[in-house]
Amino acid sequence: MTEPILSIRNAVKRYGSLHALDHVDLDVAAGEFLTLLGPSGSGKTTLLSAIAGFVDLDDGRITLHASDITKAPPERREFGMVFQGYALFPTMTVRDNVAFPLKVRKRAASEIADRTKECLDLVQMGGFADRMPHQLSGGQQQRVALARAMSFKPQVLLLDEPLSALDKKLRADLQWELKSLHSQLGVTFIYVTHDQEEALSMSDRIVILKDGCIQQQGAPGDLYNRPRTTFVADFLGKSNFIDADITGRHSDILHCVAKGAAFDVQTDNVDEIGNKARLALRPERLRINKPGVELLAAKVSQVSYLGERCQVIVKHEGLGDLLVSCATWQTGIKPAPGLEVSIGWDQNACVVLAAD
Ligand code: ADP
Ligand code: MG
Repeated sequence: MTEPILSIRNAVKRYGSLHALDHVDLDVAAGEFLTLLGPSGSGKTTLLSAIAGFVDLDDGRITLHASDITKAPPERREFGMVFQGYALFPTMTVRDNVAFPLKVRKRAASEIADRTKECLDLVQMGGFADRMPHQLSGGQQQRVALARAMSFKPQVLLLDEPLSALDKKLRADLQWELKSLHSQLGVTFIYVTHDQEEALSMSDRIVILKDGCIQQQGAPGDLYNRPRTTFVADFLGKSNFIDADITGRHSDILHCVAKGAAFDVQTDNVDEIGNKARLALRPERLRINKPGVELLAAKVSQVSYLGERCQVIVKHEGLGDLLVSCATWQTGIKPAPGLEVSIGWDQNACVVLAAD
């Protein structure tokens, strides 16, 4: 990473005996779209609030451009913010809401007018400047909140689940808009969500939190394809888990056996022969076919049709239930409960997981 714009070292926040943040280290690069992803209660809001200056850390340090801001009040940090419960001012028009951060900073009236218009146009709310917040839909209010957060040209935008209250279609539209705003503005985004798909589709880098600890971080594709733990493999997308015995190794290929099924897995993990290995196999990496075509015999127990994809639960005698996800237009068979099938996968489809 080039010189980080923001660095967090050893961040600790306790509430009684609970560690909301448990020794968190994180660097954020300038211009990056970084997403904090984790289940409810994992510490996402606490971490973002500590960055914003709303939460005092019990231990640790936060630096912005290498200067220590650990004790600086929120207004001195100059971040743009869209937080839950940090709503629009209900008695101000849309225009005045967006102008507010500029007025506080005592900018010239002409600059305030120009910049307010520019920001409202950017979020496609230029025609709503004279409305009051209660005259807007939820999505429109979110856009205005975003315009307000950007109006004073912050270097970093902090966004805590800004789209979570919106319905699916609107959320998808605003995801595209946020993404294109990010590439237009060159601003650093630190974005919080508990929505895996949202994180995968928007981020340059995802940081996965659990119980106040960073579990794993990386580019969306790396995390999805190379999860390190059961938690990550299960939280980011779906996985089949197979507990296998390691029976051999050929350079970086580990040979494993579970309940009569053999798995070759590429890994740099150095586990000994005779040890157990936990494998993760993505449902879309499994193929389903007529009996005898693929490696393992199985029987369909449930089918769920999702339009573009179809999810099938098959039962293998030893391995039990396995989830298969296939493109509906691709299957050579019509899966239905009770149907005898065979299932297979490519050699690089499995990943070896570390213990959680
Ligand atoms: P997330 O945003 O990932 O859902 P939070 O950061 O809000 O999680 O919370 C992390 C943990 O800290 C949770 O267990 C939550 O209950 C606890 N917590 C957060 N804020 C407070 C508070 N002000 N007082 C006590 N516990 C808190
Ligand atoms: Mg939260």
